[in-house]
Amino acid sequence: DQLAATVSRLQMGEQIAAARAKLAEINRDLASAVKEDPLTGVANRRGFDEQLVSLWGNARRSRSPLALLIMDLDHFKVYNDRWGHPAGDEALRQVAEVLRRVLSRTSDCVARWGGEEFAALLPFTSSSAAVVLAEKARRLVARLPLRQPLTISVGVCATIPDGECRPERLVVAADRALYRAKQLGRDRVEVATDSDWLHQPAEGQAPTPGMRAEDV
Ligand code: GH3
Ligand code: MG
Ligand code: MG
Repeated sequence: DQLAATVSRLQMGEQIAAARAKLAEINRDLASAVKEDPLTGVANRRGFDEQLVSLWGNARRSRSPLALLIMDLDHFKVYNDRWGHPAGDEALRQVAEVLRRVLSRTSDCVARWGGEEFAALLPFTSSSAAVVLAEKARRLVARLPLRQPLTISVGVCATIPDGECRPERLVVAADRALYRAKQLGRDRVEVATDSDWLHQPAEGQAPTPGMRAEDV
């Protein structure tokens, strides 16, 4: 009887351990799902924000450059209006796939930032290297076999973070470069200038990233 009781206790222990492991796995899946964009499978805004803080800290500690690309599909409203929302969604998926292919280091973070905007964080990447990658992505997107050709405009920015500077400044600078790319005719890559970095509102009153003049 004692033996039977011991065996039963051992079996119960094993079942509890298995249930715990299963629960831990489910928790891991849930944690990564909340950071993923369901349409494209790349990171969502929440995942991006988390990666920005973490990669910024890494870059500062290792004194290495961190690059940010912000990409916006050109005249995407026209594409949606002409071909319908499902076709627009399929285009977004294909663009995300191109970005994933071009920006494919394990440390790279590709994210869907909002509707038809993507962003990518590239550790250990200088501004000139980031431009080469952005150009490659731009060319490949333009050649996607879609209902009609789609293009992207890209703002690029890279820096070796210093202790004083907050990561939001990188976002503002890249966003300004993107705005210039749009103004200069779209389907192009623009790099943030010193002025994009310097003439930013004082810390603490930075504009909400994602808002910019073209949206107003
Ligand atoms: P611009 O070159 O200035 O960026 O022009 P745009 O038309 O791309 O910009 P606008 O902000 O006017 O329109 C963005 C459009 O993106 C609006 C909407 O039709 C489309 N869009 C946003 N999110 C989604 C989405 O999840 N699925 C689909 N299919 N379309 C989306
Ligand atoms: Mg947009
Ligand atoms: Mg757009």
